[in-house]
Amino acid sequence: MKIYIHTDLEGITGIDSMEMTERAGGRYRECCELLMGDLNAAVDGAFAGGAKHVTVLDSHGGGNNFLAGMLDPRAENDTRPNKKWWGILDASYQGTFFIGAHAMAGTMNAFLDHTQSSVSWHDYSINRRRMGELAQWAIVAGNWGVPMLMVSGDEAACIEARQFFNPLETAVVKRGLGRNRAELVETKEARARLREAARKAVALSGKAKPLVPAKPMEITLEFNRADYCDGAAGKEGMERLDARTLRWVTSDPLGILP
Ligand SMILES: [Zn+2]
Repeated sequence: MKIYIHTDLEGITGIDSMEMTERAGGRYRECCELLMGDLNAAVDGAFAGGAKHVTVLDSHGGGNNFLAGMLDPRAENDTRPNKKWWGILDASYQGTFFIGAHAMAGTMNAFLDHTQSSVSWHDYSINRRRMGELAQWAIVAGNWGVPMLMVSGDEAACIEARQFFNPLETAVVKRGLGRNRAELVETKEARARLREAARKAVALSGKAKPLVPAKPMEITLEFNRADYCDGAAGKEGMERLDARTLRWVTSDPLGILP
């Protein structure tokens, strides 16, 4: 039983302001320590649930958030030797977890909601279904038949996850109060939720199905402003629907981002 854990930062325990997550800021180190705490709770839960191999991926902002010395030594740290955003994920894994998730762009009372870029992306859909990074990751994992088994993050992210994945284990570690503030679950309690959800999630392998949209997939991406669209519109296969919107069609789950 192999589990692959994808991580983000916004939905990590103890993080309740955007400033905390800024690399140049005075609280970034604390942020990374909180990330490792949540990650290790999930790793521990996965092993307790029967996983024999756990791989972890540092994904927020392209990586470099992990404090390698703090990682549970039983976990394999995917350093993305292939330079792909999905790292070494492949069909040898029986499930994936998404730790530290945030909701898709445009969600109410969702802490730091966005989809890929909070600056330039407004809305993203596949086959006319709006989605965010949770579903995008699951579709990539679905390329190898790997199902989403567990999600942690703010309440809005966990509610969103339940709209896409069933069965699923979730661990709510905060509740968004508007976009920029969150009411935190106390750290010890949040970590206990993470570990328990991870432990139970391993048993969903074999029951949970991978997320596989009907093909070919019609993808639309609306940017916040026309100039962001200008930059991406020149790529082969991209159709420009209006000033801010791109459309493309693909049957490749690894081709869902522009
Ligand atoms: Zn992030």
